[in-house]
Amino acid sequence: MKIRINEHFGSIKESYLFSDIARRVGAYSAAHPEQKIIRLGIGDVTLPLTPSVIAAMHRAVDEMAAADSFRGYAPEAGYDFLRQAIAGYYRRMGVSLRPEEIFVSDGAKSDIGNFVDILGDNEILIPDPVYPVYVDSNLMSGRRVTYLEADARNGFLPMPTGLPERAYVIYLCSPNNPTGAVYSAAQLGEWIAFAQRTGSLILFDSAYESYISGDYPHSVYAVPGARECVVEFCSLSKTAGFTGTRCGWTVLPQELEAGGMKLGSLWLRRQSTKFNGVPYVVQRAAEAAVSPQGHAEAMEHVGYYMENARILADFLQEKNIWFTGGKNSPYLWLRCPGEMGSWEFFDYLLEHAQIVGTPGEGFGKCGEGYFRLTAFGRREATVEAVARLRNLL
Ligand code: PLP
Repeated sequence: MKIRINEHFGSIKESYLFSDIARRVGAYSAAHPEQKIIRLGIGDVTLPLTPSVIAAMHRAVDEMAAADSFRGYAPEAGYDFLRQAIAGYYRRMGVSLRPEEIFVSDGAKSDIGNFVDILGDNEILIPDPVYPVYVDSNLMSGRRVTYLEADARNGFLPMPTGLPERAYVIYLCSPNNPTGAVYSAAQLGEWIAFAQRTGSLILFDSAYESYISGDYPHSVYAVPGARECVVEFCSLSKTAGFTGTRCGWTVLPQELEAGGMKLGSLWLRRQSTKFNGVPYVVQRAAEAAVSPQGHAEAMEHVGYYMENARILADFLQEKNIWFTGGKNSPYLWLRCPGEMGSWEFFDYLLEHAQIVGTPGEGFGKCGEGYFRLTAFGRREATVEAVARLRNLL
């Protein structure tokens, strides 16, 4: 063909990470079919949807079966009942948002990836290591990315100190995937002050907020000044097991304005052009998930995963292995023992303990020498993994 393609796709690294993992695990299983492999690399949940959510979905399915309660296209920004329910969820954490500032979607990945559509050619700051969607969505649209190096010295929480004072689009994720590190209100306050001084915009990913148990903000809007310079992305994937059900939202406070335009209006324009809304049944499920009862049920599942995290964290502590995460996050990010490289440690664990984790360098250059374990496995598997690790390390 003679058409021109988007040449910026050439600047994205092929994501070999999960295919490389699958290939190595496949080769190992083929050679050792008798061995039981434990997967602590997945970022997907393993517990089912909770009773409130399932009951709401059943009711909504019945409504779809009758002509007078059937729903067709949903509003692009979400049904009012869900926007109100999400505003109620924020209110219970002490944050006041108007329902019209909440834009419902099929998950945080789409919103984060699509957000570049409404922004021009800015300088982009992205922590390294990080959830790869921030980097790839910017490279795909030809944006320049500057990395904020995260390492053991800054606790994997890069700060603005020393950055040239100019306007950026800044991605922050707290609690972080992959490092599990979480920003305090004071640290977020520094980022917000920097953004206000420089006219920058912060894109804040709070997909793991429900894993916070310590004194850290669950929403960036709990920190003064955030309404003027931060967009927040959130998701029910990890909170309420919606990874396959698909629902999340993006918050654009009325105060957000650039180039004489409200960012909320731009986002609505973008969504109504390219997105046709989340299914009614899913929005009713999401309404149940953010209700006090649904959230209490979801938090039991979060508690289950966090007990897995505690089991893994206790083991790492016992072995004096340096790590972040595991306390306010389902991820544990550890320094590979014995100075091993990420892939070297991956192979070592697979070969000697039949455990699969995720090599840190898959999340960025600064991830080299680190390794991610997740708490999303079943309890028996997590306990068995620790028993095997105890024999090995
Ligand atoms: N943000 C982070 C940091 C994630 O780790 C994930 C999923 O793994 C997402 C966003 C995407 O969530 P969703 O399932 O809502 O698209």
